[in-house]
Amino acid sequence: EVRVRFAPSPTGPLHIGGVRTALYNYLLARKLGGKMLLRIEDTDQNRFVPGAEQYIMDALRWCGIEIDEGIEQGGPHAPYRQSERKPMYRQYAQQLIDSGHAYYAFDTPEELDVMRARLTAAKVPNPQYNSITRAQMRNSLTLPEDEVKQLLDGGSQYVIRLKVPRKEEIRFNDLIRGWVVVHSSAVDDKVLMKSDGMPTYHLANIVDDHLMEITHVIRGEEWLPSAPLHVLLYRFLGWEDTMPQFAHLPLLLKPDGTGKLSKRDGDKLGFPVFPLEWHGTDAEGQPTVSSGYRESGYLPEAFINFLAFLGWNPGTQQELFTMQELIDTFTIERVSKSPARFDQNKVRWYNEQYLRAKPDAELAQYLLADLQAQGLDVTAAKAEQIATLVKERATFPADLAKEAQLFFQRPTAYDEQIISKKWNAAVAEALAAFAQALTTAPDTTPDGIKALLTQVVEGQGLKLGQVLQALRVAVTGAGAGPDLMHIMSILGTQETSARILAAVA
Ligand code: GLU
Repeated sequence: EVRVRFAPSPTGPLHIGGVRTALYNYLLARKLGGKMLLRIEDTDQNRFVPGAEQYIMDALRWCGIEIDEGIEQGGPHAPYRQSERKPMYRQYAQQLIDSGHAYYAFDTPEELDVMRARLTAAKVPNPQYNSITRAQMRNSLTLPEDEVKQLLDGGSQYVIRLKVPRKEEIRFNDLIRGWVVVHSSAVDDKVLMKSDGMPTYHLANIVDDHLMEITHVIRGEEWLPSAPLHVLLYRFLGWEDTMPQFAHLPLLLKPDGTGKLSKRDGDKLGFPVFPLEWHGTDAEGQPTVSSGYRESGYLPEAFINFLAFLGWNPGTQQELFTMQELIDTFTIERVSKSPARFDQNKVRWYNEQYLRAKPDAELAQYLLADLQAQGLDVTAAKAEQIATLVKERATFPADLAKEAQLFFQRPTAYDEQIISKKWNAAVAEALAAFAQALTTAPDTTPDGIKALLTQVVEGQGLKLGQVLQALRVAVTGAGAGPDLMHIMSILGTQETSARILAAVA
């Protein structure tokens, strides 16, 4: 059985990169009939942010990403919050020590600083705690056994570090990148257990993925450098046979391609990077609000469709996919290695497609609610007529009410450019005659109004094309907008006539 997990750390709101990771995990799980787990990785208590966990769950729910096992759902491997699994990790750290793959290190923060400073001064490119530096530090590999025992018994502070082999090639097959080979000299003796008895991400992640029987680890590219370390841990713990397959997803870049899209970019660049609005605090503790896709009027279907394409494509021309279609079509093999550039026009385009495809009655509901909130008296039937007409100009649900304003407000100004080009005495006379004829119009459908207009205008010796823009400006004030015959039909002949006469006067 395929088992995948989304394993966020509750250090703040979920960024769209995180949602994409969750989505790809979910698509694979559903496609292969497997299970999707949500595990909260909260072992770093210093970075814990209240509300982040709830935010993560709310965001996934809004996106339609369903969790099979997790902190809310429970499951055979509960608890799914790492802070509640603390006692489990200790025994695996001990196992690694007993088998000689990990060791106690007693270095104080000052000693570590001195080591780093020395390596930096010696221009060592990548200062590390490794087989070379470890020899000069205070740890159970360099101290006599009785001294180690004394330190431990005396309650000295220590961490447990992985003993990375000195000369070895570590290799694994990434489902997206192919074979990845890293020399062990490039891998740090990472801390597995901190002095407060909490496991680090590395230990907890491997222990949990093993115990939770995870088959595929799909995560962001930023974790690729950690993967060799994880491969070592699987081997040293004797779990190599059931090691999950890795797939590291491509980076998400800023719209201009100049580097990684960050949590701070959204409000700076004028588009959301979070699925839902986030209420946080800045460095001074002042409240902040970061915009979210949901609150900005994006539909979850559009957001998900957009995200799916950030790093994946189906290999066909099709761009619009429901969640079920994504599930049916998705394969890891079609996920790209190269970074994906965020494109805010594309996400708007998706929203337009999904918004306009909604049933008119549903659009009318949005519109009706917005108009009623404005205190306008409007029937559901009228709202539906308007929604049907203006939806082609809307990107967000709230645009419907903006576009609808012309039905409730007479023009207070007229488009100057159109007036100077299209307005003259003959046109004004024809429009006045049309306004007159409208009051007794036999047919008030858009077609009926058009026939009447044509008849009046031609009777005045003009062509329809000579008056249309002037008429639009007279009725709406603006030089562009939805179909004019429909506007007049919805406005009604009396209101249209009054507006034309006001413009002609
Ligand atoms: N807790 C890690 C994160 O926040 C999970 C990385 C992983 O999936 O292994 O991204």
